[in-house]
Amino acid sequence: MPIADAIKKSISSSSWIRRMFEEGMKLKQQYGADKVFDFSIGNPDLEPPPEFHAAFLSLAQEDAPGSHGYMPNAGYPAVRKAMAEKVSREHGVAFSADQVIMCVGAAGGLNVVFKTILNPGDEVLCARPYFVEYGSYVANHGGLLKTVDPAPDFNLDPAAFAAALGPKTAAVLINSPNNPTGRIYPEATIKELAAVLDAFGKKTGRRIYLIVDEPYRDIVYGGASTPPIACHYPDSIVVNSFSKSLSLAGERIGYIAVGPSCHDAAELMAGLIMCNRVLGYVNAPALMQRVVERLATVKMDMGRYEARRNMVVEGMREAGFEFVDPQGAFYLFCKCPIQDDQAFVLFLKNYNILAVPGSGFGYPGYFRMSYAVPESSIRSAMPEFKRALADFRSRV
Ligand code: PLP
Repeated sequence: MPIADAIKKSISSSSWIRRMFEEGMKLKQQYGADKVFDFSIGNPDLEPPPEFHAAFLSLAQEDAPGSHGYMPNAGYPAVRKAMAEKVSREHGVAFSADQVIMCVGAAGGLNVVFKTILNPGDEVLCARPYFVEYGSYVANHGGLLKTVDPAPDFNLDPAAFAAALGPKTAAVLINSPNNPTGRIYPEATIKELAAVLDAFGKKTGRRIYLIVDEPYRDIVYGGASTPPIACHYPDSIVVNSFSKSLSLAGERIGYIAVGPSCHDAAELMAGLIMCNRVLGYVNAPALMQRVVERLATVKMDMGRYEARRNMVVEGMREAGFEFVDPQGAFYLFCKCPIQDDQAFVLFLKNYNILAVPGSGFGYPGYFRMSYAVPESSIRSAMPEFKRALADFRSRV
């Protein structure tokens, strides 16, 4: 039985990250770990905040009979309430506990949403460049990810979304702060996009969901903040996790929140809860639900990421690269000196630098570097980037 086409496509695009990771292992064996500059993987490398360890230990001590059994598929009521309060603060509109479902990370949450809302052949619109797994998450449930070009500064382009909406569109998916560009979408742009979706709904009688994937919401720089979205569009579905904001990526804990005035809120909630179960997640991990209930107002110090971001921005600019300064997340999306991003990324390997080609994010001609890496690695890598670029330019 052959492997499904959507999965084959997904293997080939995400294989770059894996390929770079494997190359990195080989290079590290050959040259020593400190001589290899691995910017390929977006794995948060800061430790979770002290409040996490305190909550974890105290919950272990308080362990009561029955705490490890099944619970309602949407999660513990008290945890849903704490998340509803969090998302209300962040999105400027009041969510109640029964509009929240605890899920297995943002990835699990997005799969639950797509399983619930997509009919075969439905389209999900998303701006390029985008987190590569989106294509698989949509395809998993019979849908098609349709990409829309961004504005030149990687902001969303509401007019491009207006032009892309059609009879098959079920949802628009946005991610801010963005992986891979680090762009935070301004509130004014969100309002314009909301107006486009509203107008489409009025014209066609079909409300389009706005899915907001925001695992990097708290990772912002220079005093920036991530604007609220759900208060501007009633049919919003917020998906978030603690993977990046509290460095709990391996614990697989997140939530979905349905806009309180969503046109089909009750039916949508019932569908999401059912899909959380039938996709095999059943419910989000019990212990981690209780942990994040206690951490709902905790913010990690993002100073380390910000310092690294400043080092990378300064170093890469000095090396001669072009990019839009990231406002959040922990990625820099850099222009390659040629359109063939894969060739350039392979060339960087000669300098023991590992990055991911933009074509893996639906945006050729660029490469992504993750700066969730030690400062020493950034410091040593910057002169190598400069040498690599000069060398490359002297050859073409
Ligand atoms: N969305 C984006 C934009 C991401 O970058 C990632 C992970 O890197 C995810 C979703 C998945 O997050 P989680 O680990 O919470 O499933």
